[in-house]
Amino acid sequence: MTTEDKEFICGPCDYLHTPKTAVVWCPTCEEGLCHDCSVHHTAGKLSRDHKPINIDHYKEMPMQMIEEVKKCLKHDEIYELYCPNHKTHCCVQCVKEKHAKCTGVTLLRKVIENIKTSAMVTEINQELENRMEGLVKLTENRKKNVDRINKQSSELCTEFRRMRKEIESVLDEFENALNEQAITVKNTQSSIVNNTIYKIGSHESVYKDLHSDLQKVIAYGNNFQVYSAVKTIEEALVKRDGELESLIKTSSGLQEINVVFNCSEQLSSLLTKDVQLGMVNTSCSPLEFDFKHTGKTWNGIVKRTVCKH
Ligand SMILES: [Zn+2]
Ligand SMILES: [Zn+2]
Ligand SMILES: [Zn+2]
Ligand SMILES: [Zn+2]
Repeated sequence: MTTEDKEFICGPCDYLHTPKTAVVWCPTCEEGLCHDCSVHHTAGKLSRDHKPINIDHYKEMPMQMIEEVKKCLKHDEIYELYCPNHKTHCCVQCVKEKHAKCTGVTLLRKVIENIKTSAMVTEINQELENRMEGLVKLTENRKKNVDRINKQSSELCTEFRRMRKEIESVLDEFENALNEQAITVKNTQSSIVNNTIYKIGSHESVYKDLHSDLQKVIAYGNNFQVYSAVKTIEEALVKRDGELESLIKTSSGLQEINVVFNCSEQLSSLLTKDVQLGMVNTSCSPLEFDFKHTGKTWNGIVKRTVCKH
């Protein structure tokens, strides 16, 4: 049953079968009091020193927490004693069973007399605050990581766009250089072959002239003249054939020339299907977080923080 559910009624009035709603709670009597009973309670000799509190404040208190140390469930006895050796509360039976050899067992009431200003409360309060502060800082730290993840994810796209522009400009430069190279190669190789064609032409015209001269001698000359012409042509052929043979053997224009583009492997691999140009990965490292104000437990947590990727 929670505090809210509990019907806070006046103890004395309830005892007299005239239930009334309580307005205060007396922690000493452990019961609620209506307005009238509260007046008598404050005036009464036995209850004058009690310090009743507003019932609303009492309702705000965490019941389970404050009723934890009330009664020894094992022995059904009120916790009245405190063992400083074990730093724990105990009932009379507990002392007999577990603290017989302990020294300095004293009244719990005495120990907690000034508990609100004691080191015990200050310390536990500090312990809680340390953890709260540590977790707030850890949350801040993790939020920064989320920000960094967002930033890096968008930055890598920007970075690639920049890289892509650079690649494009490299390709542009390469294309220009390639055009220039192609023009040079075209000019050089064409002129080699054209030069050979020219030389072939000059040989051809010599044979043409000889052929034409021979036709004229055959048509108009006498036998002796034809014989003379044949002998002259034979001599000319020996000389000319030698020159033609040397042209055929040495001319670089007398070979099949093709202009080809040798694409580098790096470049052609870009066009390969399913080529892996890169991928988005994550890299993790152990969290470096300063828990120095929060003691051992926290350091342990830091050490257990490991990368899962
Ligand atoms: Zn009453
Ligand atoms: Zn009382
Ligand atoms: Zn006990
Ligand atoms: Zn003990």
